[in-house]
Amino acid sequence: MWTQTFGASHRGAQALPVSVEIRTERGFRFHVAGLPPGAARDAALRIRAALLASGCRWPRLSCTVNLSPAVSPAEATAFDLPIALALLAASDQLPPERIRSVCSLGELSLNGALCGHHTAYLAAPGAALEAGCSETILPATAELSGAPWLPARDLRSVLRHLRGERLLCDAAPPAVELPMRRDVDLADLTADRMTRLSLLAAAAGHHHVLILGPPGSGKSTFLRCIHGLLPPPSTKDRTAHERFRAMRGLEPAGPLHVPLRTPHPATSPEGLVGGFHGGAGLVPGELSLACGGMLCLDELAEFPRNVLEALRSPLETGEVHISRAGGIARIPARCIVGASSNPCPCGYLGEGPSRCRCSEADIAKALRRLSGPIVDRFPIHIETGLHPQDDAGLPSWLTSSREASEIVAFVRKQTEPVEAPPPTPEARELLRNLSRSLGISERGRASVLHIARTFQTIDAATGGGVFAGDDRRDLEQTALLWAAHCRIFDRTSWIEAARKRNAHRHERTRPDVPRLHS
Ligand SMILES: [Zn+2]
Repeated sequence: MWTQTFGASHRGAQALPVSVEIRTERGFRFHVAGLPPGAARDAALRIRAALLASGCRWPRLSCTVNLSPAVSPAEATAFDLPIALALLAASDQLPPERIRSVCSLGELSLNGALCGHHTAYLAAPGAALEAGCSETILPATAELSGAPWLPARDLRSVLRHLRGERLLCDAAPPAVELPMRRDVDLADLTADRMTRLSLLAAAAGHHHVLILGPPGSGKSTFLRCIHGLLPPPSTKDRTAHERFRAMRGLEPAGPLHVPLRTPHPATSPEGLVGGFHGGAGLVPGELSLACGGMLCLDELAEFPRNVLEALRSPLETGEVHISRAGGIARIPARCIVGASSNPCPCGYLGEGPSRCRCSEADIAKALRRLSGPIVDRFPIHIETGLHPQDDAGLPSWLTSSREASEIVAFVRKQTEPVEAPPPTPEARELLRNLSRSLGISERGRASVLHIARTFQTIDAATGGGVFAGDDRRDLEQTALLWAAHCRIFDRTSWIEAARKRNAHRHERTRPDVPRLHS
């Protein structure tokens, strides 16, 4: 007879399901593959005593247990519980089909109590999701929150639960619909329609945002407003987030927490994306701690170049890859990255003759830092100014974060599980023309397409509210034009326009230069 259940382990910062399978035949041998040799013998002694103490019998059969992938010596004792369940199912003391959808871990003491503290417990909810298990059973002493799991005191209570006699209660408190705490509401902003729509599209479509503007023009406020529009993370992101918090020694955050991380420009590349720290092993960085929420990088230009370099790949893939001698560790980092920066060292580039005091060389240097590959990875660009924007006559879904967050939830439900259809030949042609005329890269082209889709879904959710007054005969093309409009900082025309607005001052300080413009 053959049957299977699941345990869990870590690979780097990733939760890994471990298959625990058992085959029985005539005879009296007991063999475990996938555990260190000494650990397998000790496990057999503990499990046998625990089974007898819990009113079960040790199978009178030859049993071969296989753990795949193999388990490290440090985590070996945590696999007592899944091995015991497999033994009971193989000897008709539990229905085999009942344990196939269970992911469990727990060290058994000789009297059948579940005990031990293992880091593998943190991986169990994530591994259960990966393996498609419907239940996660762990010792009641496991300190875990944010993901559903069933705490058990001893083997007896696990058996009663699996036989349907007395069910274990979920450890996570039921999610209560509390009013979301918003640091910044759309109602508090002074911003035009396009800026508000860009903030909404970033939250709804999971797009990274870059905001350039002078000091005091509300760049950070805009970023925090996006965070206020985000729904609570998915179960997958929440379990990953809680696991990373535990690995960094942080308190559990709870099921409705939307992560918001704001690292300082002095943060090291390892602090931002994660890395190996001596005896502590793999430590997830700020990007992973923001999983399911948002990472805000205020003053992006002040982050050292090696930190910006480290961001490039995770911004694109939503995952951090760290190379080490034993291979590559992959850490999830699915979050919206919002960055803000001054356009020049003084911050007032383009604000007119008396404000910007930077030399042409300083401006060129500052823009070079932000241009190219980094700007390319932020699909939505917003330019803020010191002058208040006219926000009269805007619809309520652009002036109330409560209404806007309902649209965000709708758009996510519509777009996330579904693969978008390919663009029509006309749309593809328009995209090619746009990228030629605006100098948008291949990567930028894909993001323009994504944002266009987000705009279209928001338009549908608001009954045609986005493209009101636009040509509605071909919405796909209209949406593409709007999406291309969201990328402004990688255009040379933007830099030239900002310089031109500064030009008057340079002419006044150098009277010998002939005036070219009146
Ligand atoms: Zn300046």
